[in-house]
Amino acid sequence: MSDPAVEVKLEVKLEVKQASKEVKESENVAEKYSAMTVSKNSEMNIGDLSSAFSAVPTHKPVKKQIQFVEDKQEFSRFPTKAGRRSLSRSISQSSTDSYGSAASYTDSSDDETSPRDKTQVNSKGSSDFCVKNIKQAEFGRREIEIAEQDMTALISLRKRAQSEKPLAGAKIVGCTHITAQTAVLIETLVALGAQCRWTACNIYSTQNEVAAALSETGVAVFAWKGESENDFWWCIDRCVNNEGWQPNMILDDGGDLTHWMYKKYPNVFKKIRGIVEESVTGVHRLYQLSKAGKLCVPAMNVNDSVTKQKFDNLYCCRESILDGLKRTTDVMFGGKQVVICGYGEVGKGCCAALKALGSVVSITEIDPICALQACMDGFRVVKLNEVIRQVDVIITCTGNKNVVTRDQLDRMKNGSIVCNMGHSNTEIDVASLRTPELTWERVRSQVDHVIWPDGKRVILLAEGRLLNLSCSTVPTFVLSITATTQALALIELYNAPDGRYKQDVYLLPKKMDEYVASLHLTTFDAHLTELSDDQAKYLGLNKNGPFKPNYYRY
Ligand code: NAD
Repeated sequence: MSDPAVEVKLEVKLEVKQASKEVKESENVAEKYSAMTVSKNSEMNIGDLSSAFSAVPTHKPVKKQIQFVEDKQEFSRFPTKAGRRSLSRSISQSSTDSYGSAASYTDSSDDETSPRDKTQVNSKGSSDFCVKNIKQAEFGRREIEIAEQDMTALISLRKRAQSEKPLAGAKIVGCTHITAQTAVLIETLVALGAQCRWTACNIYSTQNEVAAALSETGVAVFAWKGESENDFWWCIDRCVNNEGWQPNMILDDGGDLTHWMYKKYPNVFKKIRGIVEESVTGVHRLYQLSKAGKLCVPAMNVNDSVTKQKFDNLYCCRESILDGLKRTTDVMFGGKQVVICGYGEVGKGCCAALKALGSVVSITEIDPICALQACMDGFRVVKLNEVIRQVDVIITCTGNKNVVTRDQLDRMKNGSIVCNMGHSNTEIDVASLRTPELTWERVRSQVDHVIWPDGKRVILLAEGRLLNLSCSTVPTFVLSITATTQALALIELYNAPDGRYKQDVYLLPKKMDEYVASLHLTTFDAHLTELSDDQAKYLGLNKNGPFKPNYYRY
C-alpha cells in the first residue's frame, strides 16, 4: 500500500506562520488570534521534512523567574505507604474530566493492591514504570493495533519522518489520557527519535492494558485506572523526577503537569524548549501565565487549532453523545423533546445527532449569532424555563456553570433525563440535589435516579460530569487528527530556530493545520481541486496554501 502522506502535496512549502505579534492581553481572543501574521522569512518545509528537522537550535537557557499563579500546593514527594499525605490543592477538574476515551475493557478489579505497592519488571528487566499489571501488555498491544487502523494519517507521518528522526534528542514528558489512541501518538514520538515518560491527566481514563503495553516497550508510564488524588501527583512526580534524565519538551492536557513542574522543578525549565497543550483549561492557564509575564518558554495552543476545535469538539460529540445516552438509558429518542443548552461546536454536534434520530430538538443560547445559526438550522430557540415542564432530555454544552438550576430540576417531569457534554461538572447544579428531602438511587454504573418526595424521578447521568467521557468511547479517527496536530506542534517547537518563538502562547501555523487535514483526507479518497495559476492570482493565494486568512472561521 502506498504511503498516503506521499500522495498529498508533500512538496508544499509550509510557511510557518509565526505569531509575529506576541499574544497581547486582550479580552477578545478572536482579535488576538487574527492579529497573528505570516512571517515570510520563517518558512519551514514540512513537505520535505528534513530541512525543518535538521534545524535544531542551540537552546539558550531561560533565566526568567518562574512562578505559578496558585501557590497553595503541598505534596510529600515520595510519601510513605503508611502515611501518604493529602494535598492542599485539590485535584484539578481537568484531571477528573476531559475528553479522551474513558473506556477500558480490562477488568482488573480483582487485584486491589495499589500499583505503588508492587514491584514489577518488564521483559527487558526495567522497572522504571508503575502500572496496574505489566502482564496485561500483550492484550494492550492488541488494543493499540486496533487504534492504529483508524489513525492512518498519524502512522503515515510516523513512516515519513522516522528516517529523519526529527525528535532525536527530545525528552518528552507527557500527561494525557493513556488510551490506545494516545499510545499510537507516544509510539510515533518514539519512532521519530524522542524519549518519553508519561503519566495520566485523568484518574479514571487510563486503559491499564495499554499502559502495560507501553511500559513493556520501554516507555516509562506511571498511571492506572482509578488513581487516588495522591497517586495522581505521585505519578506526575515520578515522571518528571528521574535521576539522570531531564525533560526538554512537555506535552500536557489540562495543565497539571506544567503546573507541577513550575512548582516543584522550576530549574528544569532552563532545558525546556516548549510546551504543547491540548485542553481548554490548560490553554487558559498558559494565557494567564503569559498575561502575568510568567511564562518562561514558548507554548503551543493545540486546543484552538482548527483541526482540533472544529473536529474533536464537533464530530467527536456528534458520534459519542448517542453512545453515552443509549448505554445508560435504553431510551428511544425519536419523538422526544430534547433541549440542548449552548449551540457552539459541542452543541451543534449533539443537535445533529439527536435530530437525526427524530428527536424534537430545541436550543438555549445567550449569543444571538449562535441562536440565529440554530434557527436557520431548523431548531427552536427557547428559554429553558419556557419548556422545562415538557422537556424529556436536557443536555448542557455551554462551558458555563449553573445552566440547569435546582429550581428547574424541581419543575422537570417524571422520568426526564439530565446530562452534561460541556465543562466538567459545573453546568448542572448537582450539589443542590444533595439535600435530605431527595433520595438518590444508583440504578446502574453512572446512572442515578434522583427521587422527589412525591415520587417524581429525574435521571441524572454521570453525576453531571461529561457524558461521553464517563459513559462511552470516543471515535479513534477524530483523536488521530488531534494527535497528529500534537505531534507536529512538538516537532515544530523542538526544531524551531532560536528566536522564532518567544516566551508566549502560539497557535499552530495555519499551513500545519491544513497539512494535518490533508493527511486525513486520504482515508476518504478525497481529491482536492488545485488552483490554476490564474485562479491563485485572482484570489491572491499561494497555490499551495494557506488557503484562508487567520480570521477565517470555517
Ligand atoms: P463554544 O464556545 O463553541 O460553545 C458554547 C456555547 O454555549 C456558546 O455558543 C455560548 O454562547 C453558549 N452559552 C454559554 N453560556 C450559556 C448559557 N448559560 N445558556 C445557553 N448557552 C450558553 O464551546 P464548545 O467548543 O462547544 O465547547 C463547549 C464545552 O464543551 C467546553 O467546556 C469544552 O471544553 C467542552 N468540550 C467537551 C467535549 C466532549 O467531548 N464532551 C469536547 C470538546 C469540548
